[in-house]
Amino acid sequence: MEGPSLYLAAEQLHPFTGQCIKGVEGNTKIGKERLIGKKVLSIFSYGKYLFFQFDTFALRVHFLLFGSFEAIVKKKKVTGDYPKKVRVPRLALQLKIGSIDMYSCSLRYIEDSNAIDLCDYSTDIMSVNWDEKKALAKIKNDKESEIADVLLDQSIFTGVGNIIKNEVLLLAKVAPTRRIDELSLPKLKKIISLAHSYVFQFYEWRKNFELKKHYQVYRQSNCHICGSKVIKKWTGLRHRVSYICPHCER
Ligand SMILES: [Zn+2]
Repeated sequence: MEGPSLYLAAEQLHPFTGQCIKGVEGNTKIGKERLIGKKVLSIFSYGKYLFFQFDTFALRVHFLLFGSFEAIVKKKKVTGDYPKKVRVPRLALQLKIGSIDMYSCSLRYIEDSNAIDLCDYSTDIMSVNWDEKKALAKIKNDKESEIADVLLDQSIFTGVGNIIKNEVLLLAKVAPTRRIDELSLPKLKKIISLAHSYVFQFYEWRKNFELKKHYQVYRQSNCHICGSKVIKKWTGLRHRVSYICPHCER
């Protein structure tokens, strides 16, 4: 799950704020019993993380590559079409007005009564505090890296994942393997601005459960802009899959 999905998750789970955890289940080894009776003080996202803040600590959730969650509030499923890929949740929380089931995720306790203060929102692309000048300065220092790797760098683009990377590079018409020092300053600024607008578009689509039908290159066989056959290859030092339109992306 990428930044916009986590941002949306925090919104969907907002009704649980102020509620106490009544029951816990799941195959996590984190010591889930600690959560019983604890009041959820806030739920927020930071990049690809979801946080549940309690009195003296927070629970930090990362949904890895194929993680998902499902939440029911007052008998209504609020999470739409998130796919349920495994039967046993890593962690399931029961609260007064509903439940939250989290699958294929990594969980960690953060021993802090205000974990939000540990998050630098100037790099979080969904945040009102997102600082694109800071992003540009960092990118320019990363001359030899390939643009696809840079877009996935969580210290620069906190929240950007592989779907956003691929779609933004198609919109920017830049091949994922282009090095930073091969790209002009206007092009770098364009990529940053497209990434910023795309994450909010992603959020709107995700919210309406229609994200997948808007993919133009990610997991597509043909480019939705020009119709050319899409090439799939693993690129960069991160070795993440890139879907490339050889006609649009240079
Ligand atoms: Zn194309």
